[in-house]
Amino acid sequence: METATKPSTLGSILQQRCPRCRIGNIFRYSIFRGFPNMCERCSICDLQFEREPGYFLGAMYISYCLGVLIMAPIAVLLWALTGWWITKVIIWAVLLFLPFAPTITLFARVLWIYLDQRIDPERLR
Ligand SMILES: [Zn+2]
Repeated sequence: METATKPSTLGSILQQRCPRCRIGNIFRYSIFRGFPNMCERCSICDLQFEREPGYFLGAMYISYCLGVLIMAPIAVLLWALTGWWITKVIIWAVLLFLPFAPTITLFARVLWIYLDQRIDPERLR
């Protein structure tokens, strides 16, 4: 049930908070500061983040979409600025994207957990 004090969904996603209580952390520290390990459960409401083996396979689709959404503007910008052939532009876009790939992968997990909890929520026991 929504309450007036519950943080916004977007804010909770960006802060990588538990989708159910919006207080507990999904990762041990922010994914924007490194490559943290994931918490097994929410420290506040005990929500299990990885519901089953292979659970984060779906996050790969989100990660792929995010990758394309980030690389495409880079490629277009490179093409507009340099006029390089498409092959060279794509290679450089991929190379420029690579440093962000680990963070995108972890962020896709957060989005996957939120999507999954929206479609098939695990209720408090
Ligand atoms: Zn929680």
